Amino acid sequence: MKNKVLLIVAVVVTLVVGVVVLLAILTAGVLGTDPGAGTTSEEPATQTAPPSDDDPPVSDTDPNDPAFKAAESETVEDSLYPNVGDPSVDSLHYGLDLTWDPDAKALSGTAEVAFRATTTQGQFQLDLGEPLEVTSATLDGQEVEVEHTGKDLVVKAPVTEDTKYLLVVEYEGTPEPADAPTTRSDFSTTGFTITDDGDVWTMQEPYGAYTWYPVNDQPADKAFYDFTITTPAPRMGIANGELTSQEEVDGNSVTTWHLDSAASSYLVTLAIGEYESTEAESASGVPLTYWTEPGDTRALNAMQYTSKAVDWLEKKLGPFPFSSLGSVVVDSESAMETQQMITYGNSDYTLSKDVVVHEIAHQWYGDITSPSDWKDVWINEGMAMYLQGVFEAEDTGRKVDRVMDDWALYEKQYRATAGPPGNYDPRTFGESNIYYGPALMWHELRKRIGDEKFWAMVRKWPTVHEQGNPTREEYLDWIEQETGEELSAFFDAWLMGSKTPRRS
Ligand SMILES: [Zn+2]
Repeated sequence: MKNKVLLIVAVVVTLVVGVVVLLAILTAGVLGTDPGAGTTSEEPATQTAPPSDDDPPVSDTDPNDPAFKAAESETVEDSLYPNVGDPSVDSLHYGLDLTWDPDAKALSGTAEVAFRATTTQGQFQLDLGEPLEVTSATLDGQEVEVEHTGKDLVVKAPVTEDTKYLLVVEYEGTPEPADAPTTRSDFSTTGFTITDDGDVWTMQEPYGAYTWYPVNDQPADKAFYDFTITTPAPRMGIANGELTSQEEVDGNSVTTWHLDSAASSYLVTLAIGEYESTEAESASGVPLTYWTEPGDTRALNAMQYTSKAVDWLEKKLGPFPFSSLGSVVVDSESAMETQQMITYGNSDYTLSKDVVVHEIAHQWYGDITSPSDWKDVWINEGMAMYLQGVFEAEDTGRKVDRVMDDWALYEKQYRATAGPPGNYDPRTFGESNIYYGPALMWHELRKRIGDEKFWAMVRKWPTVHEQGNPTREEYLDWIEQETGEELSAFFDAWLMGSKTPRRS
């Protein structure tokens, strides 16, 4: 995610760079008919017992599909937000079939959750927003009772450790965003957000995916995703990964999306609105797609910097870690590094080159490897911020040292307000302390060990635990091993100290 505070210190002259790219407007094909699409009418049910007069949903998804193996995770209870997520569930694949009615502001969904139980017990739990009513639930095709209290969705069925299951949940309602544990000025809620026009966008760090689907909403539990999104045309639904089909059925737009990399739930995105697509390619051949409102040339121009940003980052970090990259512009004040489909707000700030570089940098630092616990969000933001600083320096002809000097002016204050970057106050998620201190730390490390060792380390780390969630200890031990330096006091001072360490 991008922190707006740095606008104060990071204002750069934004040159409008004319990037000539291949423009290809994706045309919606009108194919076939599906009488079931877009029409759901079910009796409301109680929150504790699914109705028995409905046929249980049938699914082809096999939770033992070997393709899901890469989504097996070492689940944890989060040290900062233990009430969200449950380590007894290791989700492998979410198949989300979502229908959005913008007039009624109503979502109806079928979520197929393939998961591995990590514990033998009589029931298990996912997160699902309180306003959403469960109308039916099955486990491996058998109807099961659920208890939905607050955002806790307890499934009353026994599971056996290391056995895989398919849970299918049908639900409906008007989603409400979750309160964000932060005092930031650019967001106060997370998750499913409905605009005045009935459009939808989601940003959900550190949690909030549960506001729109049943999920184990903790970053250590990565999973694959497939989406089907139905909404009245000309609106359409956008999600992570690649658009695999787009058709119009009885006045409804139906899009399907496939994410071929395992993602943490905070990196999942959903945007519903009127969009047109523009296709491009990085110099290395990464397929790029920009989703912007029809005629919004300002947003499109900003998105077109993506190809240059990918080129610049690949020189620093090595090959782009995923098969494709999309961007979608929504009506928000923030930007979020959602996996393979970055979500940008539509302000001048969030549409700046610096933010584009920052969010793409996260695809290496945050997405292909993600934190296991929210106490380590500094791993994401520190390196994304440092790379952004290096970019800003190159882009404006300044020395990186001078950019760091500017940032250092405020670091003491950030640390005093929200705590040290590696031990922050959970009520101050995503404040400036997790961005600037760790960025300054990386610059100090670079000066200490030299450019060659530093950049080799920065480039290699994202390849060491691809699609995984390495812990802080694994990361810092690896750096010491890789560089041959004893750095425990250095890291301890920068990450856990109450005062900014002395800079060289
Ligand atoms: Zn960020």
